Amino acid sequence: QRLKKSAPKITPMMEQYLSIKSAHPDCLLFYRMGDFYELFFQDAVDAAAALDITLTKRGHSHDGSEIPMCGVPVHAHDTYLSRLIRKGFRVAVCEQTEDPAEAKKRGSKSVVRREVIRVVTPGTLTEDTLMDARSHNYLAALAETGAEMGLSWADMSTGNFHVQPVAAENLPAILGRISPAELICPQKLLEKPELYDLFADWQHILTPQPDVRFDSINAESRLKEFYAVASLDAYGDFNRAELAAAGALLDYVELTQVGQMPRLSTLSHIAEGAIMEIDHATRRNLELVQTLSGERKGSLLSVIDRTVTGAGARLLGARLAAPLTDPEAINRRLDMVQYFRDADQLRDDLRQLLKETPDLERALGRLSLGRGGPRDLAAIRDGLAATAIARTILSGDAYPATGELKTAIADLGNHFSLVEKLGRALGQDLPLMARDGGFIAEGYNERLDELRVMGSESKKLIMALQARYQEETGVDSLKIKHNNVLGYFIEVTAKNVDRMGDQFIHRQTMTNATRYSTTELSELARDISESKDKAQALEQELFDSLASDVTLQADQIAIAAHALASLDWASSLGELAIEQDYCRPSVDNSLAFEIEGGRHPVVEQALRKAGENAFVPNDADLGNERRLWLITGPNMAGKSTFLRQNALIAILAQMGGFVPAVRCHIGAIDRLFSRVGAADDLARGRSTFMVEMVETATILNQATDRSLVILDEIGRGTATFDGLSIAWACVEHLHDANKSRALFATHYHELTALTDRLGSVKPYSMRVKEWQGEVIFLHEVAQGTADRSYGIHVARLAGLPGPVVKRAEEVLQTLENGEKSSGALSKLAEELPLFQSLLEQPVAPALEAGPSALEQALGDINPDELTPREALDQLYALKQMI
Ligand code: ADP
Repeated sequence: QRLKKSAPKITPMMEQYLSIKSAHPDCLLFYRMGDFYELFFQDAVDAAAALDITLTKRGHSHDGSEIPMCGVPVHAHDTYLSRLIRKGFRVAVCEQTEDPAEAKKRGSKSVVRREVIRVVTPGTLTEDTLMDARSHNYLAALAETGAEMGLSWADMSTGNFHVQPVAAENLPAILGRISPAELICPQKLLEKPELYDLFADWQHILTPQPDVRFDSINAESRLKEFYAVASLDAYGDFNRAELAAAGALLDYVELTQVGQMPRLSTLSHIAEGAIMEIDHATRRNLELVQTLSGERKGSLLSVIDRTVTGAGARLLGARLAAPLTDPEAINRRLDMVQYFRDADQLRDDLRQLLKETPDLERALGRLSLGRGGPRDLAAIRDGLAATAIARTILSGDAYPATGELKTAIADLGNHFSLVEKLGRALGQDLPLMARDGGFIAEGYNERLDELRVMGSESKKLIMALQARYQEETGVDSLKIKHNNVLGYFIEVTAKNVDRMGDQFIHRQTMTNATRYSTTELSELARDISESKDKAQALEQELFDSLASDVTLQADQIAIAAHALASLDWASSLGELAIEQDYCRPSVDNSLAFEIEGGRHPVVEQALRKAGENAFVPNDADLGNERRLWLITGPNMAGKSTFLRQNALIAILAQMGGFVPAVRCHIGAIDRLFSRVGAADDLARGRSTFMVEMVETATILNQATDRSLVILDEIGRGTATFDGLSIAWACVEHLHDANKSRALFATHYHELTALTDRLGSVKPYSMRVKEWQGEVIFLHEVAQGTADRSYGIHVARLAGLPGPVVKRAEEVLQTLENGEKSSGALSKLAEELPLFQSLLEQPVAPALEAGPSALEQALGDINPDELTPREALDQLYALKQMI
């Protein structure tokens, strides 16, 4: 608003600035002035703070006060841009779009024309410096028409473009899978209170757009226009909401790229149910692509990633996030992985080749947007050259290719002539930008060679001229030099000025030197600069023509790039299978879940790194009559590891990868549910217990007989009887209604009573060995119920003070002896030996002065209602109070 109240005495340039800024109120405006992008007013204040750069003031006052200003140099603007984008800003880049000379012609007060040529947002990046090479950078669009919702997403840097229908309740799961950098959606959706929760985790990436941009009719025509087709039928059967989402996405891209459209591959339609749904909490808790703390290291992805190219890594990340449900498709992928697992030499050769292959997809993306440079052309040249070598490697007789691999080989295509042309055209040292020149090889263009010869000839002539002038004047120290202000000039020291004849025209007097020019020198200088300008213009022309050669074949290049990525994907999983001894899973339409010798891929590798090769493999069989496993066992015995490893094995298998097991047979799982971990959701004002119940409700409402459910200690967050009752009812519901394959870890030994009544519930426990008073966790899953909890043992390991442990053992003993009558327990409480002994220490002066907090708390405990574990928890709490 302050901007609008502009003072009458506003400079023409400021007027231009304000008018451009008013069209982009939600962006920082990078306003090009010479070698800098300048920011003014609040933009400058915000950017200076975010970038930690100096905030200055512009001399001319505006509206009575000086204008805050800061600037970033054009040549280094990428780094500043990336920091701003990461901090959540959007940046409109405003360039000078005419030669300043043109503006001058219009009048002395006239301002150079400037226009916003691009709006940089988190979802529309294409520069390597702004993105992670190994993961996708998606822009997503959500639309709603009537009762339907559709989600579309695209990576502008690689051209991937997808759409799928979504049910509102699955939205968080799907967004979790895609993990977009930016999500656009109609304003009206955000105003719906019932959707508020769905967006809670995505607030920071939301870019609301006016509702009109999500009109499905417009969207359909936009899409047809973009693909130049009369009907979209060939791409899939889209509902109106999907069309609206994909169209709005295109619209937004056009808006931010200011008309310059990127290349996008044909819209790929993901059918309902084609992908194993993994809800957001499960995805996070299983740490598939990043750990709970947000790092890649320590995630499942990080331990299975052996890819050697950015595109391969992106494909692995995308496929791991979206395991398939169709056994046929899964098996096609598995065939390809197996091929590479078996073909040792060939795999090595291929990976060696891929290691040196540049990122074709992203180079192509930039060239298509007119944002590429000579190095992108070189990437295309080398990437396409690799396709031919890859084909040769893969065409040996020893391992005939079939299926998906055969398709990939065909997709590599034939790019000989383009590679050859680029090979001839490009020189050795390539600048980032075409305008820097010097990248076209000698011999590629005659005229360019001529101009270059003229340039270097003239330089030789200048050297000759210098020698002649030295001779003529007798001044040996006479030099011909060059700077940006004067161009070429002759320089002599002050004492030699007298020797300079009439032909030397005085230009400048310095303290120690005087500078001259001559007509001859000026003519030569003009030749040099002209040939340089001409050469530069010609190189730019040649660049544009090569870039258009590339973009004309964009589709084939994109297909080849994807083929290379899938070769990297499959060969890296083959490599992993050998290195980590993984087996090929068998995936079909049954309801089997049989894992023999399964391991946890992350824990296993971590143990090995720590020098212990001690991971204990475990079997799991969730066949029909043993569909639901009730697993008891003390803390630290390995329950959650076991639960998680089975979920991870299912994900790896359905992605089409080999799995950490000796044998694995899985009937394709439609959805994976979990209730593990206990992250508080304080941001949304939910307690741990509330989160747990919300997640459990989701599972009981949505799990089917094709789903896999893993539940870790349901009901832990509330009072014992409450918790036990909830867990009890959940097991019954899962067994009778959902009929899912499930692993249920619990502390409530009482639950094992259910195994008698519910046919498919089977008791299992983690084996523990007692030896000389010590407890050893064997990490082995065995049939039957655990007989003891060993909580006190773990408490001792954790360093609880000796007297506390001792006392806990006494309490436990009393409880286990069945002395639950209030008499025995209150006697126990009255004895207070433990606390007495603790309180005898000097820390407890409060005792004399009425009831202390500790006494109060003790008084509040009702031992009748405590299980041993609960008692232990209380002890922890009491201990905290001293
Ligand atoms: P629980 O859920 O029963 O408390 P965890 O699954 O968290 O136990 O396991 C505790 C620790 O035991 C893990 O950090 C891991 O290092 C180790 N562990 C678990 N399972 C195994 C196994 N199968 N082989 C070797 N070590 C294991």
